[in-house]
Amino acid sequence: MSSRDWVYDKFCAYYKNPTFRFPSPSQFSQREYAFLLFKERAMVRHKSFATPTALTAFMRERIPSDVYHSCAYYEDPEADMDKKGWSGADLVFDIDADHIPTTCNKIHDEWKCTNSGCRVSGGMIGKGITPEECPACDGMKFDVKTWACELCIETTKVETRKLLDMLLNDFGFSEHEIHTYFSGHRGYHIHVENEAVRDLDTTARKEIVDYVSGIGIDIFDQKKRLPAKAKGKTSTPTFSLNDYGWKRRLKKGIYRYLTDAKTEDLLKIGLSKKAATTLTKNRDSILKRCIEENRWGSVKGVGYETWMRIAEHVKNCEVAQIDTVVTTDVHRLIRANGTLHGKTGLLKVEFPIKELETFDPFVKAVAFKEGTVKVRVSEAPEFKLSGETFGPFKNQTIELPTAAAVLLTLKGRAEVLK
Ligand SMILES: [Zn+2]
Ligand SMILES: [Zn+2]
Repeated sequence: MSSRDWVYDKFCAYYKNPTFRFPSPSQFSQREYAFLLFKERAMVRHKSFATPTALTAFMRERIPSDVYHSCAYYEDPEADMDKKGWSGADLVFDIDADHIPTTCNKIHDEWKCTNSGCRVSGGMIGKGITPEECPACDGMKFDVKTWACELCIETTKVETRKLLDMLLNDFGFSEHEIHTYFSGHRGYHIHVENEAVRDLDTTARKEIVDYVSGIGIDIFDQKKRLPAKAKGKTSTPTFSLNDYGWKRRLKKGIYRYLTDAKTEDLLKIGLSKKAATTLTKNRDSILKRCIEENRWGSVKGVGYETWMRIAEHVKNCEVAQIDTVVTTDVHRLIRANGTLHGKTGLLKVEFPIKELETFDPFVKAVAFKEGTVKVRVSEAPEFKLSGETFGPFKNQTIELPTAAAVLLTLKGRAEVLK
């Protein structure tokens, strides 16, 4: 029995278990469903079902490695794309370590160009985030080896926290309109379901992406420019922040940043020596006068230029790094909640917003909780599952719990010995 057949049997058993329930999304019968079939490795899409029971029956018969549904609702989900009759879509966000420069991806992620004409013989190999085009040959196809470590999850959690803060406090969505999920691999999905967002087109969704990404934010007040001191000189804009939206976010962020910043931190972000030392020497009074009392121009040597530099730096820390394409695509397919991820054997799982800090996907998303199996591991970093620590492994034969063996097998790092 091949390792993949062994994993297939596990997926079969999981979905065929009588206790398996498909957690149906809202507007269930108006959505398009898509399945990547485990054995055939083929995509079946444009499916719709009247009930979750019918969908479950289909899954039990065909056994998918991955299950998706459209973020959109359609009059006829089974019709061709242009005849489906789009009648709205959830607003979705994908926060994935694939798109965030983490310090760990250089260690555990690797790509290899598969273009046969690559100028590097055998195909160029690189570490970290997979490029759009191979630097050696402009090829766009790669073999990608990734890993989901605790730091990946921690990094995506930070981005998720920032995004949720914007959705709740800047956009004013309520907690019950926002669904938060662990993606089943190395990130989080946020789905917003609200009357106000369902009809938004791509352009409107792009505006939301820009807001979340901090693009096009005018942080100084053009109307309150100081008059030019001398004839022929341009006027100086004033720096001002208020308590709404990005301005509130920047004001709080600048306060937090300056509370801890050392002189060398300030020099690193491009401040003059004079401004940096003034800021650290008179920290408390500057925090009070400039930020709390909104008198940004009241300290000599700390002017518009300085505040703009700090604001720019803080803005870059405050943006939420999302996969922008997912949010703007109004026909997007997204992994279905409660189903297995074909690259990990972990589940996509929903959890309440207030549990973001304590939610441990390496415990809660574990699907295979019984049995052990002997595997030959080629190479794997240390990892945790269900509270147990495994590895690091290098060319080792070992007995592992099913969930750990499924993960390593799907990641191409182990062979099941049976
Ligand atoms: Zn190449
Ligand atoms: Zn990592």
